[in-house]
Amino acid sequence: MDARTITAKERMAIPRQEMPAQDPQVRIGNFNEVNLGLTPEQARQEALRCIQCKDPVCIAGCPVNIKIDQFIKLIAEGDFMGAVRKIKEDNVLPSICGRVCPQEDQCEKVCVIGKKHEPVAIGNLERFVGDYERMSGQKIDPKIAPPTGRTVAVVGSGPASLSCANDLAQFGHKVVVFEALHELGGVLMYGIPEFRLPKEIVREELDGLRRMGIEFRTDVVVGRTITVDELMEEEGFDAVFIGVGAGLPWFMGIPGENLVGVLAANEFLTRVNLMKAYDFPNSSDTPVFDCKGKSVAVFGGGNTAMDAVRTAKRLGAEHAYIVYRRSEKEMPARQEEIHNALQEGVEFLLLTIPLEFIGNEQAWLTGVKCQKMELGEPDDSGRRRPVAVPGSEYVLPIDMAIISIGNGSNPLIRQTTPDIEVSKKETIVVDINTMQTSKENVYAGGDIVTGGATVILAMGAGRTAAAAINEKLAGKAKSFEEW
Ligand code: FAD
Repeated sequence: MDARTITAKERMAIPRQEMPAQDPQVRIGNFNEVNLGLTPEQARQEALRCIQCKDPVCIAGCPVNIKIDQFIKLIAEGDFMGAVRKIKEDNVLPSICGRVCPQEDQCEKVCVIGKKHEPVAIGNLERFVGDYERMSGQKIDPKIAPPTGRTVAVVGSGPASLSCANDLAQFGHKVVVFEALHELGGVLMYGIPEFRLPKEIVREELDGLRRMGIEFRTDVVVGRTITVDELMEEEGFDAVFIGVGAGLPWFMGIPGENLVGVLAANEFLTRVNLMKAYDFPNSSDTPVFDCKGKSVAVFGGGNTAMDAVRTAKRLGAEHAYIVYRRSEKEMPARQEEIHNALQEGVEFLLLTIPLEFIGNEQAWLTGVKCQKMELGEPDDSGRRRPVAVPGSEYVLPIDMAIISIGNGSNPLIRQTTPDIEVSKKETIVVDINTMQTSKENVYAGGDIVTGGATVILAMGAGRTAAAAINEKLAGKAKSFEEW
């Protein structure tokens, strides 16, 4: 079918193209990516389903306002490199966002086709475009304005920082990214597992930023190695962007949480993703709990919980449980992740809360005392409140417990830069139009401002901050004397 001659009826007759995926029985034995990507023909077919609305509401549904209608039109016409160029005007990380963004709650949720049929698979098309550029070997690097002589320090290297650094570099400013860990990429690298987001993709996106002249310094903990004030006063940076995320795990505060075998999802995932603990002691010197043939319970219902439980399954757990206090409908994880976890044999213990972890004499975890819940009246979040069912307590034998109930902010920046205002929850307070903090020339964005949120919201915040920093520095290009 031709994009120029296709009729409305023919468009509507095209089914939503299904993404090929690894078979569940095969994939639980490896860490390779589950979804395999649309073929070029499938991508064109999917793009032909888009009716090119006069008022493309999908754009407003995207936190970074990608020109969705335009890049999809180019795919439908077979101009895949044109689509890459178009999408990159607004999103530097299409291969990543196409994989991890919750499109079903954003652009695809408002897709007009979705009113009567399945919405256009915008996320899968975005992923196709990003992958097409990588596989074609042709790199589309953005245009960079002449150097302004101004320098900006970007703290952290997660999606908020990377999108901020990208825009600032395009404006012609010199950007240096300071990252605490030895690897760049934030949660994209150490949180989201390889089977959802191959690390090679993140590394290639980082190479693109290096080609733009952005400098990366790893193993620098801002607040310890150097403070925000020192970055400005001693290192001479004109502005600082703080994108340090929300990496401090919350625990449940129930008895037995200090037993051996109870750990936070962040630690478990970091050991496996970043330290390659699954290959201990061969290529890795970081061990992780041996899950083979064991019972592992993950407490929580978000993306992190699904990532942890599916990782445990791949590490050989015989029973991999999700223990969640509400029903599946209330789970914050993406529908696709829940579906994939079920396919892989994860057991869901819904409407269940843990009361206490139980251990043996050597303080090793042996089980968890649980209680059944039922749904009562809606709470402040609009979700029905779980209420305990009296007399429903029971003990679930487990060897390992992974807590995944959310993260707070690391207090380091607040402690070492007291003139940056923080909220009661320790998130940094900003003007949401500019992402400017209470401290002159210091901006912040991403999870450190919102608390744990999404990749695309973090990227949107990074872009807002970059625009405001540029405006502040504009007209202040270094004078001859300053050089
Ligand atoms: P981060 O990605 O957390 O990056 C912060 C960086 O700052 C880190 O590299 C950290 O090491 C560094 N840093 C911290 N302190 C310092 C310091 N003092 N000095 C220097 N560097 C510092 N979102 C989605 O949209 N889709 C998903 O599918 C999804 N899945 C997720 C799965 C997991 C397991 C997790 C944990 C989160 C997931 N999220 C998902 C949420 C998403 O990853 C985050 O919202 C996003 O990464 C936040 O970006 P950020 O740039 O604010 O921070």
